[in-house]
Amino acid sequence: MKIHCLGTTGYHPNDRRHTSCYFLPADGVVLDAGSGMYRLPPLIETDSLDILLSHSHLDHILGLTFLLDILHLRPVESVRVWGEPDKLAAVREHLFHGLIFPAPIPVQWRPIEPGEVVRIGVSGSVTVDSREQEHPGGSLAYRLRWTAPAKTLIYATDSVGDTSADCCRWMAGADLLMHECYFRDSEQQWAVKTGHCWTSRATGIAQAAEVASLLLTHINPLASGDDPIDIAAARAIFAETRVAADGDVITF
Ligand SMILES: [Zn+2]
Ligand SMILES: [Zn+2]
Repeated sequence: MKIHCLGTTGYHPNDRRHTSCYFLPADGVVLDAGSGMYRLPPLIETDSLDILLSHSHLDHILGLTFLLDILHLRPVESVRVWGEPDKLAAVREHLFHGLIFPAPIPVQWRPIEPGEVVRIGVSGSVTVDSREQEHPGGSLAYRLRWTAPAKTLIYATDSVGDTSADCCRWMAGADLLMHECYFRDSEQQWAVKTGHCWTSRATGIAQAAEVASLLLTHINPLASGDDPIDIAAARAIFAETRVAADGDVITF
């Protein structure tokens, strides 16, 4: 199973990272539609796309407005956009207001309730469910499961980090946990204030859930150096940790 990191920061792009977007070409599944989504066309292998939105903050939806060019370069038969009903309504009403964006986009809007199980991807090969997270306005963590081969991927972004036993059980044993880590430990008070996660919290969740590997995402765009989240501190807690960068292709 391969996931392409098309955008690995939050809030705004910087010279090395676009905002949140990840792609699983074999299934045509897109995780969030940040500014990195313009990189999609040469990677598309399927006749349909399923875009899962964690929530409707701009850094996760802006790329929806790029779809006209994306589908011009690489047409597909159908595009489904999944997310909580109020988030989809906000996107349709505001991002695609005629004075913000001048043309309709050819997608099907598919509201999902937290916890609801849906099947997406080519012939429904991916089973998806979700959990609510603590973040301004709320966000969803998604769990994607495949049966052949048996794999589990968890995408948990824009969250202060859920350390509850219930969440730990939900994430338990995942092959790959993608968890946001916007801040270093020294900036923990900003993380709590803004509904984001920090190094020891994200790695502690991976350790408690006994996942196979952890990919830290949604990196602070102001931390544009080579070691944005203190990787040594992260690996001291959970050894199988890496920090997502644009262009990375992660195998799990
Ligand atoms: Zn964000
Ligand atoms: Zn957000």
